[in-house]
Amino acid sequence: MKLSHKFVKNIPDTLENGVVYVSMDYSTAIHKCCCGCGNEIVTPLSPTDWKLSFDGETISLYPSIGNWSLPCQSHYWITDNEVEWASRWTKRQIERGRIEEEQDKEKYYGKKKRRSIFGFFKK
Ligand SMILES: [Zn+2]
Repeated sequence: MKLSHKFVKNIPDTLENGVVYVSMDYSTAIHKCCCGCGNEIVTPLSPTDWKLSFDGETISLYPSIGNWSLPCQSHYWITDNEVEWASRWTKRQIERGRIEEEQDKEKYYGKKKRRSIFGFFKK
């Protein structure tokens, strides 16, 4: 599946299917879930969230996009404007991914700024 991208200043109210909108002002990319379910997927760009690369023609997002909180549970990579489907994760993998994400954020932001939404993993 081929995507296109648009660099925008503000995120538009209605999103087209198959378009990744990138706002440098807001350090955010947003697109409609590639499975076609219509949910809007927001990928913040930051050292601990997603990284966007642009080669002049196509964009890539790193790491993969895992929509675990959606009913479709889609998991895919966006590489050079191409959707590469990845395997669904098991509950265990999702949990491990979240813990790793938390550790990354902790390393980056320091322990004091730990986000409380992840608190339930700390026992
Ligand atoms: Zn979906």
